[in-house]
Amino acid sequence: MKVLDILKDLVYPEKPVCLACGRRYDHSEIEGVCDRCLARFSFITDACPVCGREVVPATLIEGQPCPECKEERPPYNYARSVFTYSGYAREVLLEYKYGHRPDLAEPFSQMLFLYYDEYFKDRDIDFLIPVPMHGDRKTYRGYNQAARLAKELSKKIKVEYKDVLFRVKNSLPLYTLTKKARKLELEGAFELKDKIDPAIFEDKNILIIDDIITTGTTSSEISHFVLKEMGAKNVYVLTAASVPVKLD
Ligand SMILES: [Zn+2]
Ligand SMILES: [Zn+2]
Repeated sequence: MKVLDILKDLVYPEKPVCLACGRRYDHSEIEGVCDRCLARFSFITDACPVCGREVVPATLIEGQPCPECKEERPPYNYARSVFTYSGYAREVLLEYKYGHRPDLAEPFSQMLFLYYDEYFKDRDIDFLIPVPMHGDRKTYRGYNQAARLAKELSKKIKVEYKDVLFRVKNSLPLYTLTKKARKLELEGAFELKDKIDPAIFEDKNILIIDDIITTGTTSSEISHFVLKEMGAKNVYVLTAASVPVKLD
């Protein structure tokens, strides 16, 4: 921190501190992250209407799904992500995921709120479910990042949050596998927690919350489970970040 910044802090001690860069700031659209940091996030505006990911290079025709979704349509109705997982936004998200920074859940959930308002408000969502984490990883990281985001968002939109799924297997890092291998790896990976009545899903509109979509396989597998095995009516996905669809 520069001397000038320190002096400014002494003169204006009431200004909030940015949770991403640590500087004090005047105002920002997202409480907890300064506008200078926000300007470095690549918020997604042009995305595949199905998986919600950006396509690189930008060759999407408006209204047309990306090549991956054309090849195989995911089981969910559609997904949206707030920003692309790259550059500075990626650094801040990694800090949230691995840096023991649960305080970042609040600004991220405000971002999710804006996208919820834009894309899901009229979908009559009955409840939110976070992507579950395997028990071993939870012990290691101390908390499930997706669950925290879902919980914070649930308070803002006044839609119930149900942490009812359970991850049976601790899967290999999915990005190292081929598409087929990813599917096999996740088959049967999700189950209902003990004592949860499967009937809660029947004919319901569900919104799955996660921190990041990398390959899309996890959200597809959960959607499949919730739709086909639990009898949900519609399933949507909202995540903080997503990895772009890269065309060769
Ligand atoms: Zn900042
Ligand atoms: Zn797509």
